[in-house]
Amino acid sequence: MKRNLGRRDFLKLAGMASAGVLFPSFFRLLEPVVPAAAGGKNVLVVVFDAFSAYHISLHGYGRKTTPNIDKLAERAVVYHNHFASANFSTPGTASLLTGVLPWKHRAMNLYETVDASYLNRNIFSAFDDYYRIAYSHNPLVTAFLDQFAPDLNDYIPLDQLLITSDGLVDKLFKHDADTATIAWSRVMKNGETGFSYSLLLWSLYNEYQKSRIGDLGSLFPLGLPAVRYDNYFTLEQAVDWLGAQVEKIPQPFLGYFHFMPPHDPYRTRQDFYNRFLNDDLKWIQKPPDIFTRSSGDMKYMQANCKRYDEFILYVDDQFKKLMDRLESSGLLQDTWVVLTSDHGELFERSIVGHGDPSLYQGVVRVPLMIFEPGRTTRTDIYSLTSAADVLPTLLYVAKAQNAAWSEGVVLPPFSKEPSDPNRKIYTMKLLEPAKGAPITNATLAQVKGNYKLIYYFGYKELNLKDHVELYDIVADPEELHDLYPSRKALGNQLLSELKAKLAEINKPYL
Ligand SMILES: [Zn+2]
Repeated sequence: MKRNLGRRDFLKLAGMASAGVLFPSFFRLLEPVVPAAAGGKNVLVVVFDAFSAYHISLHGYGRKTTPNIDKLAERAVVYHNHFASANFSTPGTASLLTGVLPWKHRAMNLYETVDASYLNRNIFSAFDDYYRIAYSHNPLVTAFLDQFAPDLNDYIPLDQLLITSDGLVDKLFKHDADTATIAWSRVMKNGETGFSYSLLLWSLYNEYQKSRIGDLGSLFPLGLPAVRYDNYFTLEQAVDWLGAQVEKIPQPFLGYFHFMPPHDPYRTRQDFYNRFLNDDLKWIQKPPDIFTRSSGDMKYMQANCKRYDEFILYVDDQFKKLMDRLESSGLLQDTWVVLTSDHGELFERSIVGHGDPSLYQGVVRVPLMIFEPGRTTRTDIYSLTSAADVLPTLLYVAKAQNAAWSEGVVLPPFSKEPSDPNRKIYTMKLLEPAKGAPITNATLAQVKGNYKLIYYFGYKELNLKDHVELYDIVADPEELHDLYPSRKALGNQLLSELKAKLAEINKPYL
């Protein structure tokens, strides 16, 4: 493995100077080169990571988490039954970027990128006559931006919108970022383990970090929002930067911006902290999950849920700020704005977070709102929609083109075709198949009409045989009553449809 610098040398060096001082020129990878075509409307995709529709007041949540988004929705197309393609960032985001589900793009594991066949079938290559700009707080997503960099005019490095960062480590150990980050953390931080391998370096580093954060610390009672432990950022900084940037770049532009909140750690700003303390949210105790086999520690789940909901208030506040700025600059009149997420978050059945084998509604139902240029009224869409629909819809409305490869459809009300009431929506957790191998271990959910079938298979390590659950998500949106034992005929019919689809997906890999 080729490295720019030995780790020992690097750590010595890092003790003496800051990242910016040492390597100021690392932070701009690609200079804008291609002028954009004139005429079309801009497209701005804003993704807030791990933003569950279940926790949005607009969608009926018991806490007023999104007062501003609720108001903004009065001028948007609002999708009420929108599904992420997966339950964590890598597969979920790849579907937004490629218009296909994880079983096709094959980005299934942490830091994995999409199958090479999507290098010329993605949102950036599809908008090749636009000025294309992208940024992500989430390193799992920057893996895709690295992959698609040849199709970006302006690829903003992750570090650029961080107040403090480990970016130097990533740059120096480009092919070994994970191990290098661990080594860096062990010496320089007292992180999750509570101790550092070097007391001297840690205490120097700690003082240095504090000096970089400055007065901002007092605005965030739980600490500053962060990625990878102490790479601090604020959403204000990111949103201000984005607002200023889109006013400067050539039009029409396609912007993809992926911000970390409300992903954990849930660290809201002072003015939203404890907003939901001791409120009267009705807590619903849910049956055990097949994996956790527990209904959970209610106090622990409630405490985390409260912090998450308060973090959503911060997202809501900053999204409004962005939209206000787009409006006052006049850009909103010429820009399609999409608000969505890569997956949701769970606080039920002993599960706090996302990414485990379960696919309950909280982790797969996400917001989708489309702000059409010049629209002054709200349109509510209740049909089932998928993350795979975002790309074909944008390509259709902005450029009148089809994404022939996509598994998604052009969404109502923009499509000329009526919605198919029997359309099946899929969301999934795929476990570790190589890119060229069939899927043999997964949780797949199929949603059709009122029914959601969840099929777990191949979990040998838990000695779990195939397991099926069936919910009527209209009559029982909390998924409290598994209908599979009592409605076997319906369940097995839906299961055979899902297995037929899986066989079709696996066929090229057999
Ligand atoms: Zn995510």
